[in-house]
Amino acid sequence: MNEPIPTLVPPVRNDFASIQAHLNKNVVPSYGRFPLALSHGLGSYVWDVTGKRYLDLGGGIAVTSLGHSNAEITEALIEQSRKLIHISNLYYTDLQGQLGERITDLIAPGKVFFCNSGAEANEGLYKAARKFGHEQGRFEIITAENSFHGRTLGGISATGQDKVKKGFEPMVPGFKHVPYNDLEAIRAAISPATVAILIEGIQGETGVTPATPAYLLGLRKLCDEKNLLLLIDGVQCGHFRTGRFQSFQRILEGVEGAESFLPDGISMAKSLGGGFPIGALWLRNPYGDLLSAGTHGTTFGGNPLGCAVALRIFEVIQRDQLAQHARDLGAWIKNQLAALVTKYPTVLKTVRGFGLMIGLELQPNIATFTQDDKPAAVQFINRLHEKGVLTIPSGNHIVRLLPALNLQKSEAEEGLEKIEALVATLV
Ligand code: PLP
Repeated sequence: MNEPIPTLVPPVRNDFASIQAHLNKNVVPSYGRFPLALSHGLGSYVWDVTGKRYLDLGGGIAVTSLGHSNAEITEALIEQSRKLIHISNLYYTDLQGQLGERITDLIAPGKVFFCNSGAEANEGLYKAARKFGHEQGRFEIITAENSFHGRTLGGISATGQDKVKKGFEPMVPGFKHVPYNDLEAIRAAISPATVAILIEGIQGETGVTPATPAYLLGLRKLCDEKNLLLLIDGVQCGHFRTGRFQSFQRILEGVEGAESFLPDGISMAKSLGGGFPIGALWLRNPYGDLLSAGTHGTTFGGNPLGCAVALRIFEVIQRDQLAQHARDLGAWIKNQLAALVTKYPTVLKTVRGFGLMIGLELQPNIATFTQDDKPAAVQFINRLHEKGVLTIPSGNHIVRLLPALNLQKSEAEEGLEKIEALVATLV
């Protein structure tokens, strides 16, 4: 077997402008990109094509759960690719059963469907919900305002933000949006056609806003009362980021009456594959059988390579106790950031989140940022890039930290020092 440890690629080019021009000429311009071209990474660091090093506190938007160029992921890829990369879902592979078991063991008895992305995992949930209500003519799914569920046509229809829908109307029918963390709003929106409620455990794209325990418990009660499916999008907030496998498990820790709380379906992706594209949805028994033979599928779903990587990631997270690490280090980072909020109240408004899903909210009127019409979060992040740190914007005023689950404390310290150095210039 070849040595799986990756060797660092030395920077060979210093030509951001030509890379940018080449991409812009040949690639659909659907992304707003920062002016950085990255070439390689190791652990929580990435390097750009000029050889500059960045501490990656964004984790590819909550994806690189074990950091960059992780040797054990590489090893899993190499080992599996020597055996079998792909077979059709016309056949059985043991890896799918193993990965499905791993996921159900962490939630509750049920069944898993494998796909390739978060949007696709949510699509599976919409279809399961429609199947569930089909005989009674029920099809409507209630989601939350400011939610994000992906960029497919179903995904933007489910998402409670107008900006993702603009220009793509008409939307897929059957989605209604109501304010998040507002039980009465959901109760009032339920109609005879309603079949399910879908929420994120923690809203990620619009400011790192967790569901409250009372909301989760209230939704469960409401769904039981009205025979609706309770679906949770765990694409961004799942996979141990909060210190538990799913964010609702963390939010409900120690809450009276929450011991038996379970949603009926959960979507996953991002950190599940650590950068290898794999998504999944879990459905509680007996709903796991809603998507019967011939009703749903995808060519690459559950391919042996993706399953092998996801299984290895589960092993490493368990062996290295990364859930506890995410909880402890995340709490420490949040405390440090809270101290910065106190020290720099004219720049920083608040900090929130669980574990390694943290949102740092900027004050709305930072003088330096009023000279440019780019959102404050983007301007802040651009300046952090100059200091060698990557983070992710969330809405206009929130800077998100979604680092690898194995981020070291010394790395977190380095990131915080650089964040403080920037904040101090904005007072
Ligand atoms: N759901 C949530 C909560 C997300 O944050 C995202 C992506 O950011 C998605 C769904 C869509 O996932 P993907 O981009 O893998 O389709």
